[in-house]
This record gives sequence, C-alpha cells and structure tokens, in this order.
Amino acid sequence: MRGSDPAAVAALKAGGLVILPTETVYGLAADAGNPRAVAAIFEAKGRPRFNPLIAHVADAVEAGRIAVFDDRARALAAAFWPGPLTIVAPVRDRERVCDLARAGLDSVAVRVPGHDRARAVIAAFGGPVVAPSANRSGRPSPTTYADAVEETGFATAEAVDGGDCIVGVESTVVSMLDGRVTLLRPGAVTRAEIEALIGPIDTGGDGHRSPGRLALHYAPDAPVRIEAMQARDGEILLGFGPGSGEARWSLSPSGDLREAAANLFRRLREADRERPTGIAVAPVPDQGLGEAINDRLRRAAGFVG
Ligand code: AMP
Ligand code: MG
Repeated sequence: MRGSDPAAVAALKAGGLVILPTETVYGLAADAGNPRAVAAIFEAKGRPRFNPLIAHVADAVEAGRIAVFDDRARALAAAFWPGPLTIVAPVRDRERVCDLARAGLDSVAVRVPGHDRARAVIAAFGGPVVAPSANRSGRPSPTTYADAVEETGFATAEAVDGGDCIVGVESTVVSMLDGRVTLLRPGAVTRAEIEALIGPIDTGGDGHRSPGRLALHYAPDAPVRIEAMQARDGEILLGFGPGSGEARWSLSPSGDLREAAANLFRRLREADRERPTGIAVAPVPDQGLGEAINDRLRRAAGFVG
C-alpha cells in the first residue's frame, strides 16, 4: 500500500528515495550504502557534495557497526537515543555508509531517531539510512508531511506521513574525534545537557571541520530580519511571548521555547506564502533550546552563526 512502512522499506531496498518522518524534521531517506541512491538525494535537494549526510540507524548496536564510539560517545548515546542527537565519530564501515554520504571524510555522523515509524522502517530495512531534511538545499526544513511532499516529493518513490514533527529543529550535532568534543550544530539536546553528562564541550581553536554549515540556510523567499521589536511596512512579525501580537503569527504566545522550536519553520513557511516584503522575528532568549532557534534564525537572515 502506498505510504505504508513495507512500501517504504521496499523502495529503500530498490535504491529509491523516501520521505520519512522523524521527531526533528521530515527527512529525504535513502540506503546509505548505495552510492546511486545517495547521489539522487544530493541531486533532488540541490545539495553541495561537500556537505555530508547523517546515517540513521535503529539502535546503538547498529551505530556501533558503522562508527567507533569511545566512552563519552557511548554515554551520550545511552542518555539521548532514541532522540535528537547526532554523534560524529571515526567511521568503522566505509561500505554501509558510502564515501559520497560521508563527503569522503574518515568520520561518520550517526543518530537513532526518536520517531517510532522512522525506527520501524529503518529496522525493517536492516541497515543505515541517510536522511537529510526533505527541503531543497538552503530552504527551511519541512516539519509537516505536506511541506515535505511540496519540497522534494517529485523525487521520491514513497512517502510516509508521520504527522507533524514534535521537535521542529534539526538534531544537535556533536563531534567526538581525536579526544575532543565539539558542538557542530545546536539542537534540542542542549549544550547544558551534554556538559552535565560528559563535562565541558571544547571551545576555541577551529573546532572540528563542520562541512556544510552554510551562512545562508533555512531561508524562506522573503528576507528575514531578526531581533525585531516591531514590523516595518509590508513585513510580517513573528512574535515570541505574551503580548507578542497576532496569535497566528506567534512562535509561542506563552514564551515556551519547545513550542517556538516546533513552530519555527512552519511559521516561516506560512509567512512566506503571504508574500510579505520581509519576515521580522522578535528576540528569542538564547538559553537552552533558544540556542538552536537563534542559530537557525541567524542563518535564515544570512548571518554566520
Ligand atoms: P543535515 O543537514 O541535517 O543533513 O545535517 C548534516 C550535517 O551534519 C552536516 O551539514 C554537517 O555539519 C554534519 N556532519 C555530517 N557528517 C559529518 C562528518 N562526517 N563530519 C562532520 N560533520 C558532519
Ligand atoms: Mg537540512
């Protein structure tokens, strides 16, 4: 049946692309070990080939087959998987996650998604599945089934409707190479949660190479202006917190960061559909999940994070 888990598994085995729901954002999935399928993802998204993909697996045992985890990586996996945390570690199996998926690196990014249907499809498929966000490169990630199909449905053999994404921003990416721990991308697993478990995240220096973290990213068509106190002529203002204007355009009327993250890309897309001269976004506090929200907003506005 179209859209069923078995149909999605069959499509993956045949080298096709599948729209797959996860708790973070909708993914465009393919067999990580099939270079032609992986190439089709880069093609459909218009994604530069130097930007490596995350391998999604069903559990930590599967993760251990493709990546080499040290004690700290194991501790993070035990605490946060299934969930919105990606761990970058030395690659163990270069076949099951092909060169193109890793952008030729000796490291691999791996995660166990916290969405039951995603895990069920991946488990039934029986190997790692790469699944970058299902948007065309540079655009806001889709957090609803309809938005995912609108973005890259044209390139897929199958699409699974798993409802609206609960988290709404992409996974936290932590690099654990050469004994150093670096935060490559903030997400719903916060800096404080990671540090509480394994100690301080390394800062300073160059950190690890984080290919693909482009300055202008997650961007709607309309220009985005951040830290805005009010809308200018023709702009839509996305508010945050009590008294933040029209409820329809608020990221969270109560000022809740989880709600704001879940609404972020959806509101940017909805605002864009009104063809405003610009989208202004009210200040969002930088604590906890706010670090991820502000990271995406700075990139949507064209500033390096
Ligand atoms: P996404 O854009 O959600 O598919 O996330 C992929 C991001 O994870 C990339 O843009 C990189 O920043 C990071 N990433 C993936 N694989 C690696 C890797 N092997 N080494 C370093 N960063 C990686
Ligand atoms: Mg993406």
